[in-house]
Amino acid sequence: MTRSALVLFSAGQDSATCLAWALSRYERVETIGFFYGQRHAIELEQRQTLRTILAAAAPGRLGDDHVVDLSGYGAIAESALTAERAIEMAETGLPTTFVPGRNLVFLAVAAALAYRRGAGTLVGGMCETDFSGYPDCRRATIDAMQSALSLGLDQPLKIETPLMHLTKAETWALAHQLGGAALVEAILEHSHTCYEGDRAHRHAWGYGCGACPACELRAKGWNEWREGVSA
Ligand code: ZN
Repeated sequence: MTRSALVLFSAGQDSATCLAWALSRYERVETIGFFYGQRHAIELEQRQTLRTILAAAAPGRLGDDHVVDLSGYGAIAESALTAERAIEMAETGLPTTFVPGRNLVFLAVAAALAYRRGAGTLVGGMCETDFSGYPDCRRATIDAMQSALSLGLDQPLKIETPLMHLTKAETWALAHQLGGAALVEAILEHSHTCYEGDRAHRHAWGYGCGACPACELRAKGWNEWREGVSA
């Protein structure tokens, strides 16, 4: 059994929960983040704060952080997240925030790093339950990628996606189960989800503009979880 995992960590609610999940299961955990020309460097700043808090809760387990510059890919994959285009639904039925092939590229790069670092498992916050229908977040895509990477590296590589079938409310419940109120508070305060990069407005569910699709989803999940807890 592999005891080392590499977590795809963007400092969003999902990947922060994934990092806590990995720290509860693996003796050694490292993190990887990607810069690909995002309009908001904010998520790269928040990752260090979250890493420090989560590391303290799992002494000796959290290792290095790796930030990889994929701005060349970002130039190819130009869309609303990487260019000044409106966030709207495209004719394909996907929001224009869809960056074609993003998770495939991230997983391939993460797999190369995991190979070098001796980690047999990648952990990612991909979720097909409660999001915008991104095809590269579906488990069928992840399964195919896991097979392709294992074949291409000529050694088994596992891709764990603990949030795959959870709603955003259930993701908060998982955080609570993993680290109690302290972890929920850390993720609430320090994780960043907003597409607009807004950290000026603090809501019950955390920071954000409150209007973009990511904020709407986060607010909805938080409210559903709180209503479920108090019911
Ligand atoms: Zn927002």
